[in-house]
Amino acid sequence: MTPLSPKSGELPDSNNHLYEEVLTQAAVLARRYLQTIRERHAGVSQAALERLPALGGEMPFHGEDPLAVLKLLDDIGSPATVASMGGRFFGGVIGGALPASVAAHWLADAWDQNACLFDFSPVAAYLEDLVLDWVLDLLGLPPDCGGAFVTGTQMADVTALAAARSAVLGRAGWDVERDGLFSAPPVTVIIGEEVHATMPKALALLGFGRGRVHTVPADSQGRMKPSLLPRISGPAIVCVQVGNVNTGACDPVGEICEIAHNVGAWVHVDGAFGLWAAVSPERKCLVEGVGRADSWATDGHKWLNVPQDSGIAIVRDAEALGRSMSIAAAYYPPDAEAKRQPMQLGPESSRRARAVEIWAALRCLGKHGVAELIDRTCRHATRFAEGLRAKGFDILNDVVLNQVLVSFGDDETTARVIDAIQAEGTCWCGGTVWKGRKAMRISVSSWATTSADVERSLETILALAAGECGSSSSKPSIA
Ligand SMILES: *Cc1c(COP(=O)(O)O)cnc(C)c1O
Repeated sequence: MTPLSPKSGELPDSNNHLYEEVLTQAAVLARRYLQTIRERHAGVSQAALERLPALGGEMPFHGEDPLAVLKLLDDIGSPATVASMGGRFFGGVIGGALPASVAAHWLADAWDQNACLFDFSPVAAYLEDLVLDWVLDLLGLPPDCGGAFVTGTQMADVTALAAARSAVLGRAGWDVERDGLFSAPPVTVIIGEEVHATMPKALALLGFGRGRVHTVPADSQGRMKPSLLPRISGPAIVCVQVGNVNTGACDPVGEICEIAHNVGAWVHVDGAFGLWAAVSPERKCLVEGVGRADSWATDGHKWLNVPQDSGIAIVRDAEALGRSMSIAAAYYPPDAEAKRQPMQLGPESSRRARAVEIWAALRCLGKHGVAELIDRTCRHATRFAEGLRAKGFDILNDVVLNQVLVSFGDDETTARVIDAIQAEGTCWCGGTVWKGRKAMRISVSSWATTSADVERSLETILALAAGECGSSSSKPSIA
């Protein structure tokens, strides 16, 4: 294969064959990666980590054959990945991408569209509108909301809260886009005690500060206690969470909306994964009233199982979103209402066509399939909890969604069990601390997880826990 490098100066008249070989080979390597992922270690071996420098120290002066570059990436890079596509990776709400969404991503990579403007990519802009409509319908949110496709929930929080900032200050007669926050009327910002770590960061990026927010105490499951909301007056934003990353618990969003709206506050919902409970007839009660909020942030790359780099910001007041994100220059077309101009609705300008994979996932699953995915992963989580509890281990949360917190005894023992599980490699789970106690967190959020994966992982966890607990004084009562 001819290297696509400047050494020869000129490219051949037709360079189609350059794609042919390298894309065919990429498909071969990707298929081999995915076909063997269930047999490999769920984490990364020390040997794989030690080989990473083979990817290169100093940047080469002369370019290399694309096939050689790809082969090196597979040889060294593939083993240094965690097996989050494998079905037994339970470390964090990460999800595994659906086949249709990976394939759609590949095709969209070949398109290489810049999704910033309709004229640069009509299909990207069209799919954003379409996907937004479908998602609003699926999640039970108002049909006229504005929305933006961003990298993840953290940026979706930033985006939606920028619209919130614009609206609440606008009502107080302040133009935050023009005049900034210096000398602006103070905005009261309220969060729950068990807010996700990305929320204070999002608030800090917007100039709200991490330290000047009001924090409302939470109950045993991490739900904000509405009775302890402070008295609110003036411009205010209440940040609610549905889907606590430890317990899966959801703040009582309907009740909070009622209280906050009575005093004119804006309610923003961080629903990175929890918002998807709304698609399950059995679980939608957890997010009852969520459609009454003013803005929402959620992920495509978690429970919907599209590739990473996929978040959605949704704002009821589409005008506030447009105002906070607007951009103008002679080289951009005027904001024609009939056409979606993605850069007028989100924080980024040039970017990839993110709605493509979401569309593929939704089209492929259908409403029934999305609900089935949510319910199935929740059932797997329940089975984990039952299996662990039956052997005498403490489950620290009410397993209402896809999250399980387990303690194997005292903190040292739990830490040792987590280390043993991560080293053994059948499955992968991470650690956390819940209400002062060390715990292992099991998140079931991939379509690829089967009942057999759950049974095999459970057996391994129980065997390793029995070994570690046996070697310690803090033996739980094994039933
Ligand atoms: C994962 C998560 C986030 C952050 O989402 P990113 O996609 O990583 O930006 C925020 N809130 C909750 C509740 C989450 O689970």
